[in-house]
Amino acid sequence: MNFDLTEEQAMIRDLIHDFADAEVAPGAVDRDRTGHFPVEVFEKLAKLGLMGLPFPEQYGGGGADTISFAIVVEELSRVCASTGITYSAHVSLGGAPLALFGTEEQKAAYLTPLCRGDYLGAFGLTEPDAGSDAGGTRTTAVRTGDQWVISGSKCFITNASYARNLALTAVTDRSKGTSGISAFIVPTNAPGFTTHCNYEKMGLHASNTTELVLEEVAVPLENLLGKEGNGFKQFLAVLDGGRIGIAAMGVGIAQGAYDKSLRYAKQRKQFGRTLSAFQAIQFKLADMAMNIELARTMVYKAAWLKDQGRPFKKEAAMAKLFATEMCMKVCDQAVQIHGGYGYMKEYEVERFMRDAKLLEIGEGTSEIQRLVIAAQIGC
Ligand SMILES: Cc1cc2nc3c(=O)[nH]c(=O)nc-3n(C[C@H](O)[C@H](O)[C@H](O)COP(=O)(O)OP(=O)(O)OC[C@H]3O[C@@H](n4cnc5c(N)ncnc54)[C@H](O)[C@@H]3O)c2cc1C
Repeated sequence: MNFDLTEEQAMIRDLIHDFADAEVAPGAVDRDRTGHFPVEVFEKLAKLGLMGLPFPEQYGGGGADTISFAIVVEELSRVCASTGITYSAHVSLGGAPLALFGTEEQKAAYLTPLCRGDYLGAFGLTEPDAGSDAGGTRTTAVRTGDQWVISGSKCFITNASYARNLALTAVTDRSKGTSGISAFIVPTNAPGFTTHCNYEKMGLHASNTTELVLEEVAVPLENLLGKEGNGFKQFLAVLDGGRIGIAAMGVGIAQGAYDKSLRYAKQRKQFGRTLSAFQAIQFKLADMAMNIELARTMVYKAAWLKDQGRPFKKEAAMAKLFATEMCMKVCDQAVQIHGGYGYMKEYEVERFMRDAKLLEIGEGTSEIQRLVIAAQIGC
């Protein structure tokens, strides 16, 4: 067993660590205030060749592994979780369904531009009445002649305003239950397709979260992704990988909150001593450091299993559950260590706390992760 990063992983970590500090951190407070979407950051990430990092080089990807992807998500989230989730969703929800289930033609046509960073990837599963219970999908796709006609709506979809195509689920045969759900690649400029971006969110203000409305959107038969009736199964498999991304976000946000807290505790003086001289504060920082390290190790393990082609569903759910709940606790303690200043936007840890909450909800809530783990351990 070897806990060291490979030379390539370490190189990617150094590159993205410096990039996050120099290019992403400086505007994060403003973007949280204004909601400005950081297109310019993604153009630079594309120039660095990171937008298709874990995908095969033949489609313009970086041919890197899932651990490297997790490192990039972690480092971006360390300074700006909105940037972290945009990148994570682009790769693990936008690109992954195409890489896993696309035909050669589909990969060439749709995965390659994602790897180049021409536009962002997105994934439409959730509906107003089908969240945790994704099997309750109501959007329909009806085969008429040489096309599929899709009608329905999706909610809370990340990145769709910046996507030219996205994969989504629709019911093709209601009588078959979840085996009657299929996946489609849909151009966002197709007649009848509208994207709305009107949510007022608790956090992640600089990420793009949208509602999709599809009114008889016609796509060619070849836009079916994978086999007819396999859409539900495919998207659950995509979510297993996506959970590694959300877990990495948890590690990154927690690391950012911890770094700020340690620095603050060493500077701030009360009762004639720095906060870091008080054992009560030392214990908080020690717990934070320990839990971040444990979560990171679990994220890397889940990513490593995925890279070995071995089952990783249980480990991805464990990593997501542990890292995201840990992250909320670390952010709470970070605000506490900062005292009244922690409650102020200027010190940033309140933003980390607001952003972190989504991690316990998206890509399967904490309750759903416990259900997944329970099923995996044979309950
Ligand atoms: C900012 C943001 C970005 C998102 N991005 C995307 C995206 O890109 N693509 C996409 O498809 N979706 C996306 N989502 C949707 C997200 O995945 C769902 O919100 C999530 O799966 C929960 O679904 P729900 O909101 O309908 O909650 P519900 O399913 O209604 O759950 C409400 C509560 O009930 C609990 N619950 C539900 N069922 C059970 C059960 N069986 N046992 C125990 N407890 C249960 C839940 O854990 C939760 O606490 C995003 C959401 C947000 C907020």
